[in-house]
Amino acid sequence: KPLISLRDVYKIYPRSSAESVHALNGISLDVPAGAIHGIVGQSGAGKSTLIRCLTALEKPTSGQILVDGQDLAQLPESQLRKARRQIGMVFQSANLLDSRTAAGNIAYPLYLAGVARGERHERVEEMLELVGLADRGSSYPSQLSGGQRQRVGIARALADNPKVLLCDEPTSALDAASTAQVLHLIRDVRDRLGVTVVIITHEMAVVREICDSVTLLEGGAITQTGTLEEILRQP
Ligand code: ADP
Ligand code: ADP
Repeated sequence: KPLISLRDVYKIYPRSSAESVHALNGISLDVPAGAIHGIVGQSGAGKSTLIRCLTALEKPTSGQILVDGQDLAQLPESQLRKARRQIGMVFQSANLLDSRTAAGNIAYPLYLAGVARGERHERVEEMLELVGLADRGSSYPSQLSGGQRQRVGIARALADNPKVLLCDEPTSALDAASTAQVLHLIRDVRDRLGVTVVIITHEMAVVREICDSVTLLEGGAITQTGTLEEILRQP
């Protein structure tokens, strides 16, 4: 049973009275629970639009976006915040708060979500352990390497126990060694927590490294989708 299911999703931006941009042009896609799914496309393919729809920051013009059976496109505003907690976001450059320690960064969304202090502390410890930074909780982002900062970003995204880990170009800002470590960590947390992972990238190398299945996006439409083997077999 798919954890994420898109059905005929369109996102049309008006450009002028005569013209419009079909940023998403009829996307249908299933991501099984526990899978690592890559979404690959060049600049302008519609990747960011898809992310904003998946995180319910935008509503699609039409179509269904089911996450764990809940249609994000239909949810009233009052329930969106709760629905968004099902999705942990990882960004290209981690986007940590420089004024807070690694532990403070991981704790912050929990604090915003109203998680009590004791439980927050416990979750932070667990997450630091999970990403291999148990001894760096008191370090500030400026004292960490790029790869370590991204591991804190992953810990923060997972702290509230989301069903989906949505990674937007998670390794594009990293060198080869850190890239390998971060990809390994993503696979490791999937194996250990059973979280469903969606990785948005323009790099086939990333997909080849960890994805179970892949969707190729071009001009807002899917050109190919399938298992990694199926996609790699195509000319
Ligand atoms: P990607 O993230 O793959 O680079 P985007 O989702 O940003 O692609 O863009 C897909 C298309 O939609 C592009 O043609 C872009 O110009 C257009 N687009 C994206 N966001 C908006 C917006 N807010 N208003 C108008 N057009 C947009
Ligand atoms: P608070 O505002 O709750 O006092 P901080 O923002 O400084 O806390 O830290 C966030 C959370 O991380 C707190 O729950 C705190 O107990 C915990 N914490 C702080 N430093 C560390 C650390 N080095 N290792 C593990 N957890 C820590």
